[in-house]
Amino acid sequence: MRALAELTTLRLGGPPRRYVEAGDEAAIVAAVRAADADGEPLLVLAGGSNVVVADEGFPGTVLRIVSRGVLDDGRGGLVVQAGEPWDPLVAATVRAGLAGFECLSGIPGSVGATPIQNVGAYGQEVAETIVAVRAYDRLTGTVEERPGAECGFTYRSSVFKRTPGRWIVLAVSFRLIPGGRSAPIRYAELARSLGLAEGDRAPVADVRGAVLGLRRSKGMVLDPADPDSVSAGSFFTNPVLDDAAFAGLERRARERLGPDVRVPRFPQPDGTVKTSAAWLIERAGFTRGYGDPAAIAISSKHTLALTNRGAGTTAALVALAREIAAGVREAFGVELEPEPVFVGHAW
Ligand SMILES: Cc1cc2nc3c(=O)[nH]c(=O)nc-3n(C[C@H](O)[C@H](O)[C@H](O)COP(=O)(O)OP(=O)(O)OC[C@H]3O[C@@H](n4cnc5c(N)ncnc54)[C@H](O)[C@@H]3O)c2cc1C
Repeated sequence: MRALAELTTLRLGGPPRRYVEAGDEAAIVAAVRAADADGEPLLVLAGGSNVVVADEGFPGTVLRIVSRGVLDDGRGGLVVQAGEPWDPLVAATVRAGLAGFECLSGIPGSVGATPIQNVGAYGQEVAETIVAVRAYDRLTGTVEERPGAECGFTYRSSVFKRTPGRWIVLAVSFRLIPGGRSAPIRYAELARSLGLAEGDRAPVADVRGAVLGLRRSKGMVLDPADPDSVSAGSFFTNPVLDDAAFAGLERRARERLGPDVRVPRFPQPDGTVKTSAAWLIERAGFTRGYGDPAAIAISSKHTLALTNRGAGTTAALVALAREIAAGVREAFGVELEPEPVFVGHAW
């Protein structure tokens, strides 16, 4: 089998022991049951845009989900098979004047992976529109329809991500809002680029256009002509801190950067505070382009993305990520957590 580097957006990862593709629900369930009956390690892969696969590859079966199908009730209700590519679905819903996905334009990968880390961008999360997730439970051997409210969605996580490998997503049901107007814009940079205030609404097509423009300027849209897009997107999640930890960060920031420094602060509904991983990385001394320009380096457009410039290896990528995390820990006492899923090795 070919190396997993051919199936990941980072273009990294060695070969799997076995490789199968499954094009519909029955084939997916059969392939998972067969691997489990043999006691074979299993990796489910779709778009390969959120994985960091070891150079040694994967010592088991890689099951690539390529199922297709969209059921549309014409009133904003959709049931979408897991292997459907995400962004063409967003484009089609925006053309149909449906609101709910517009800020999630340009995110690579499959529909089935969106609930795994509750994909989000520009103030919107997929959890807001998910009605139910149809999934095969490897523990019970049954297919279940799990309501969105029971998926344990949090910032870049879900019950699926917290219990790796247990559920295989087969299809996702969504509820979008007809009428052509976007949800209220909740992200300052996006509002600015639309010439609006936060909380305003705009035609969904305008929002999609603005989001794609912003994402392109950061190398966050997959583009064969853009070496900065050879990444797994944001490599680290934004740290979520309690009051005491945030006060500690502010104190360290003042010591390091002066008394007037303002640490990015986004209060969360549960009383915690989210801060910006990119801000911490930059203030710890890691600049855009830092690293080996022929192998692994920070994107030249966005500090949060680590990129493979051609001759990279996963070992070198993880070494750079650890160097950045150690630098931020030393400068600010904050622990960065990787966003992508590590396969065949651990963080
Ligand atoms: C340039 C770029 C920009 C990005 N921007 C964003 C962003 O703005 N916001 C954001 O949230 N993410 C972003 N990402 C990350 C990524 O695109 C998303 O997480 C996406 O949902 C992953 O989809 P995938 O099909 O590629 O998943 P894969 O990489 O194939 O898999 C990711 C994980 O999900 C599991 N998985 C995949 N499909 C299934 C399934 N059907 N059932 C069970 N488990 C499954 C895999 O086992 C693996 O653990 C970005 C990535 C890139 C490369």
